[in-house]
Amino acid sequence: MGRRKGGNKSPASLAQKSSSSNGPPEEEEATTTTTMSIAGAEAAATEAETEVAEEAMDERTGSSNLEDSSEYPALIGGDKTSADYYFDSYSHFGIHEVSSYQLSGDVAGSYENSEFISQKFLRIVSTLQEMLKDVVRTKTYQNVIYQNSFLFKNKVVLDVGAGTGILSLFCAKAGAKHVYAIECSQMADMAKEIVQANGFSNVITVLKGKVEEIDLPVAHVDVIISEWMGYFLLFENMLNTVLYARDKWLVNGGVVLPDKASLYLTAIEDAEYKEDKIEFWNSVYGFDMSCIRKQAVMEPLVDTVDQNQIVTNCQLLKTMDISRMAPGDASFTAPFKLVAEQNDYIHALVAYFDVSFTKCHKLMGFSTGPRSKTTHWKQTVLYLEDVLPICKGEALIGSMTVEPNKKNPRDVEIMLKYSLNGQHCQVSRTQYYKMR
Ligand code: SAH
Repeated sequence: MGRRKGGNKSPASLAQKSSSSNGPPEEEEATTTTTMSIAGAEAAATEAETEVAEEAMDERTGSSNLEDSSEYPALIGGDKTSADYYFDSYSHFGIHEVSSYQLSGDVAGSYENSEFISQKFLRIVSTLQEMLKDVVRTKTYQNVIYQNSFLFKNKVVLDVGAGTGILSLFCAKAGAKHVYAIECSQMADMAKEIVQANGFSNVITVLKGKVEEIDLPVAHVDVIISEWMGYFLLFENMLNTVLYARDKWLVNGGVVLPDKASLYLTAIEDAEYKEDKIEFWNSVYGFDMSCIRKQAVMEPLVDTVDQNQIVTNCQLLKTMDISRMAPGDASFTAPFKLVAEQNDYIHALVAYFDVSFTKCHKLMGFSTGPRSKTTHWKQTVLYLEDVLPICKGEALIGSMTVEPNKKNPRDVEIMLKYSLNGQHCQVSRTQYYKMR
């Protein structure tokens, strides 16, 4: 993807204010709204896509992308500053779930079915490959495990949602006494083969089934490792599965890896993309298709954001302590205050997350923020109804409420309340988003 334009950064552009207005939809709460026409976005297109695969072989540099993340220090102890709030996701593992059905004998047989299976299988493989090729992700886990073998040596490890078994293999190589790799999809069969092919059958036991239903051959484990994070951290919520495993099997004083996850919010200029994808529906060959626009605004967009688009500070919304939190803590309301660092326009808010492994010799982790190396999680863009002209020093204040959908807890519902009382713009609004 990665084809967003850098921001329209001319402070003078605020002087080109016009009174064009796209009125608020009836069901949305809005007081005063000032919108402005968008002065042509002159900035040149910036290819944001990172060629992560190229770095796959670079063993020396390691993987953590935290070093180029200016917001990283907020990670540690960040929960102290955002005392009252909370929430959970995952898009790519849905595909494995499909696989357990697709690859089961039940659907095999007819020509149509086998073609169906093969298409799904290719999708599973390509999804897994995308995750494995996400060097920031996979290499961070590898470095955490290899460089902190004291956490694994002679320990019993549980790999929650093992996929291909990659994390279990890392742990076995780091000297784990035994690794139980639980995987609910048909991928478990391949993980078994992979374990065998690599000579770890005596150390790794792959268990096929849901974590919530599996009979673990041991009462306790010393370490739980999992890569459970979804888009927007919490989409396709697998966090609860990790918490379930923790409460059932983790020995007193045991370690959960990673053990911290933080969600952040910032605001961006995104005139061109919003115009292209959202406002497009206002007039299509002269016809009003704004009902589609309404839907499009409600769907958070997973995409890479250029750091030059960032208009405000980055605000920590919520830190989750995976080793201590309760499942309900993944639903939360967090206040935010986004202060403009220059005169600009705000078209969208952007959410992203960090994870960290605080039990390592030295703190390790990675960020999925726009100032860090791109990961397959990219960032999550929430478009605002209006374009908000904001002057340097002015603050967009509000709160974000995140909770799972009641019918389908893997979907995430977001309520955004915000207001700006600025020189060029007074607005107060509530918007609703659904990740599904
Ligand atoms: N650990 C692997 C795969 C991560 S993807 C890696 O890092 O590459 C998450 C995996 O968890 C998927 O394979 C998915 O099928 C599995 N999973 C999700 N929910 C699960 C559950 N409740 N029980 C067992 N496995 C689950």
